[in-house]
Amino acid sequence: MKTQDVGASHDGGSTGDRARPRERSALTGMPVEQLESEIVGLTRRLNANTYELLVLVGELDANGKWARTGALSCAAWLSQRCDIEMSSARSQVRVARAMQTYPQLDVAMAQGEISYAKARVLVASLSAENVDDLIHIAITTPADLLTTAIATWLNRHESEDEARKRQSKARGVRWRTEPDGMIVITARLTPAVGGAVCAVIDSGTKAMNAPAGATLAQQRADSLAHTMTHGGGVCAEVVVHVTEEGNRLNDGTPISDHALGEFLSDAFVSLLIHDNKRNPIDASPRRRSPTRRQKRVVDEKYPQCHHPGCNARDFLEYDHINPYAQGGDTVLENLQRLCDPHNRAKSKAAR
Ligand SMILES: [Zn+2]
Repeated sequence: MKTQDVGASHDGGSTGDRARPRERSALTGMPVEQLESEIVGLTRRLNANTYELLVLVGELDANGKWARTGALSCAAWLSQRCDIEMSSARSQVRVARAMQTYPQLDVAMAQGEISYAKARVLVASLSAENVDDLIHIAITTPADLLTTAIATWLNRHESEDEARKRQSKARGVRWRTEPDGMIVITARLTPAVGGAVCAVIDSGTKAMNAPAGATLAQQRADSLAHTMTHGGGVCAEVVVHVTEEGNRLNDGTPISDHALGEFLSDAFVSLLIHDNKRNPIDASPRRRSPTRRQKRVVDEKYPQCHHPGCNARDFLEYDHINPYAQGGDTVLENLQRLCDPHNRAKSKAAR
């Protein structure tokens, strides 16, 4: 049987490049098992061909010879010569590069254990340290569950600093024109920034007079456009849930302590603090001593004296980071634990 050329190239123009016409009437009576097995079989052949394509793309990308045509990047060359969208071309180059960097990925794809669809999801998170684990996850997880499986694994295995670096690297804003003439803007933002941006959009949505019949999505579009074109001055409240298992935005997006700390310095953040039974903690900022519930959260957060280099764990005292006498509130973000000597040293220095 003649193998079929996929991803119809517009270059050649020979009949070998065209799809093999199927007599549709012949399919009408085809047993469903046969139809299914033909679909699965063809998908396998497509995957094998895609693998071959990516190997070639990787080679062209690595030798840099695409530049001689005047293309600005290997992806641009692909987009022009193979008549595919720029986003698809970029994604092919990304996967092709990862296949060169991580031979494990290359092998798994060559053996048909990881499809291109899965690889596309996978490559954004791959590193020399996690490649074996993530490839195992990709092989054993169905494609539609892979994103969640990777996020869960990363959440369990990454330090806060690693997560911050990875997310910060992945930030970006792009826009493109759709066939209906609309401009689609895509923003990839770190949880803290994304949470703040969404809060600003929603606070604008509430403040505006909605045109009759406008959907929520339309009102948000109006709010976003108004904020962006009329400049700042918008105050929005971002609600962050602080729980024993970590911090999260209202919609469940996890947010690290570090990101929260950066957030707190200049934002209008309202902390909704939960104790280990998920009950919101009632913080009362102008009483001097922390509540029992606040203490529990502070204990969790500061298992040892917070003075740099001090590892004392016994008889720790609750300390207002910004002193109570100087207006520091008795709220979680202003509380830490210090050992007795360091607490006294700090009070003395403040006087
Ligand atoms: Zn200490």
